Amino acid sequence: MLLLEDCQRLASPLGPSQHALTRQPQSRRCSGALPAAAKVQKASTSTLQCRAQATITAEPSTSAKIDWDSLGFGITHHAPVMYEAQYVPGMGWQGNLRPYGNIEISPAAQVLNYGQSVFEGMKAQRSAKGRVVLFRPEENAARLQAGAGRLLMPEVPAETFALACMAVVAASRDYVPPMGKGSFYLRPLLLGTGPILGLGPAPSYTFLVFGAAVGSYFKTGKGSTVDLIVEEHFHRAAPGGMGGTKAAGNYSPVLLTQSAAKEKGYADVVYLDAKTDTLLEEVSSCNIFLVKGRHLKTPSLTGTILPGVTRKSIIELARAKGYTVEETDCPVTEAMEADEIFTVGTAVVLQAVGSLTYKGQRKQYTQGGKPGPVAAELYEDLTAIQQERAPDKFGWVREVPL
Ligand SMILES: *Cc1c(COP(=O)(O)O)cnc(C)c1O
Repeated sequence: MLLLEDCQRLASPLGPSQHALTRQPQSRRCSGALPAAAKVQKASTSTLQCRAQATITAEPSTSAKIDWDSLGFGITHHAPVMYEAQYVPGMGWQGNLRPYGNIEISPAAQVLNYGQSVFEGMKAQRSAKGRVVLFRPEENAARLQAGAGRLLMPEVPAETFALACMAVVAASRDYVPPMGKGSFYLRPLLLGTGPILGLGPAPSYTFLVFGAAVGSYFKTGKGSTVDLIVEEHFHRAAPGGMGGTKAAGNYSPVLLTQSAAKEKGYADVVYLDAKTDTLLEEVSSCNIFLVKGRHLKTPSLTGTILPGVTRKSIIELARAKGYTVEETDCPVTEAMEADEIFTVGTAVVLQAVGSLTYKGQRKQYTQGGKPGPVAAELYEDLTAIQQERAPDKFGWVREVPL
């Protein structure tokens, strides 16, 4: 049973310690068929109203019949339901769960013509406590709001974001793989779907959350390494641009460079800063860390780098373990001298880099596809918290009520 308080707790930036986890009286429950169908509205008093709606025609969460051992990172095993909300100025957000499927869109939709689109990526996992949990979802809610601000779109309230994500996960619980076999990847999307001809913001918006059962992001999977190459021609982001936003427009420009790199046997490219062409920024869809002894470095958030939730978590985790961590310039020359390099992100988790190639020179960090000791240690610590195999001492894990 999904409780309104659970939604609010999940949406709260304060973390769980600020909220009593007591069961709420019946009258405050989202009654009826929740979580199979939930409707949330922002009332004028800014209190949340949670209503049940029996509009689901898809069979939510019947046995998913998925071979958990052969999961890749793809949409093949998408959940049968998704959340869809519409925003009309003056009326706010109105949404509910519906069967997974196509959305109808005007050819004049702003997003199709001018690209008003920001997204998020999160994972729901089964934990050692037998629960289904999300990792720091309030961070994703806040980042989506920041992205909305950058592209002049209406914000999705944190409570709506949390309720939508939890409702999709709860209605898709058979798609959450057994612990350690993968995860249920959630993809929230905010789109300017209203029609417009001249350049301007859309007159109306759509917020979607869909999800799929997924395995490892890179083909090589966990406990392995990837080979990366430094991109010397294209840049991912420029100062004053939108590199720090999970905007759709940041991702197709990387395809050309990525495919060229893949043809040469690299998993992905590392981008350099547009100003000096000497400093590492990040990979196409993950942040990067350099390791030298007990010292870690990662590029600072100057607007061109995506502020990853995993990046932030690894910084906090490593510091708590006694590493020094600096958010600072990371010259590519220093990377070529590092003990280890690894990339981090929700999709890749923590991926050790086997080698980095720059100007025809290849620096090999580890041999035989084996992650370095620091990457292996931090991977284990992070996933232990995410899967509740270790105490959640930072208060990062949020239970999805089923
Ligand atoms: C999503 C993303 C990341 C990682 O962010 P997380 O919140 O850790 O998933 C890093 N870089 C880019 C470019 C991204 O799109």
